[in-house]
Amino acid sequence: MTSAPQDTFTIIDGRKISTDIKAEIIQKVIERKALNKKVPHLAIILVGDDGASQTYVDFKVKACKEVGFHYTMMRFADTISEDKLMKHIDQVNRDEDVDGFIVQLPLPPNISVERITEKIRPDKDVDGFTNRNFGSIVSKNPLLLPATPFGVVELLKRYNIPTEGKNVVVVGASRLVGAPLSMMLVEEGKATVTICHKYTKDLKMYTLHADILVAAVGKPGLITADMVKQGAVVIDVGTTRVEGAQYKNGYTLKGDVEFKEVAPKTSFITPVPGGVGPMTIASLLLNTLRATELRNP
Ligand code: NAP
Repeated sequence: MTSAPQDTFTIIDGRKISTDIKAEIIQKVIERKALNKKVPHLAIILVGDDGASQTYVDFKVKACKEVGFHYTMMRFADTISEDKLMKHIDQVNRDEDVDGFIVQLPLPPNISVERITEKIRPDKDVDGFTNRNFGSIVSKNPLLLPATPFGVVELLKRYNIPTEGKNVVVVGASRLVGAPLSMMLVEEGKATVTICHKYTKDLKMYTLHADILVAAVGKPGLITADMVKQGAVVIDVGTTRVEGAQYKNGYTLKGDVEFKEVAPKTSFITPVPGGVGPMTIASLLLNTLRATELRNP
């Protein structure tokens, strides 16, 4: 008698793991307070009035409140010049009370993301965006890891999903997500990693070999069931706002993976929303705590 392919899979609950991490951070903050040590302080710089950016920043402020961090919101009009913004970043770099800070992306087109990012002091760069922190992934002692890749690696760890010796395929090679995640999975994860991008010919040929498939592109529906190996672990980083009158707020968030048809082929899969998204904020909090501990042990 042959058995039918299994249709059971586990939905990776990023909200639950991020709640667990927040509980651990709350405990650390309580311990620091009891020892009269400095409470972590995160500053957030927001330029312009992009609705999605405002929503992300609101989540970050809420998370700071939940874990007992101090926070400072710095808002600037989208007419601010690059030089003026650089001066504000210099100020935050020098502010001894601020342990970590982020500049919410995207920035207005007249401002260079690279110049701004590189102005951030690496030991306060809690998004892990600077070249110094990107490079430190391949060092023995990384400083502050890029937040979204850090969140993905943490999800795999907390679900006891082994990476050592596994075939990992990362679709998307961006400087903020795909590239650093691939390096982390090689360095720390000891995986064999293939990075695919826009110019990859026959994407399916690669994805079909993945024990762990990560999609980080921003193209809803890119990964379909026929591209996924039976039993694979699928991590969907993609988050695209899709508008439509049928959705409660006029839009919904969609991943890169066709969840309904892909999930039954997997062993583990992240949903969108509720998978990687909450982990990015948890990583930001972990990095802010680490930055505080480095500066004020
Ligand atoms: P990005 O900078 O636009 O990079 C997308 C990557 O995908 C690039 O390497 C691009 O290649 C590649 N690509 C484009 N079309 C492709 C295709 N058809 N096949 C294979 N690769 C293709 O975006 P990102 O910042 O990395 O973000 C990726 C997605 O993750 C977005 O949906 C974003 O919203 C989401 N995200 C989510 C979180 C979270 O917390 N959940 C955090 C960050 C990002 P080229 O460079 O050659 O164009």
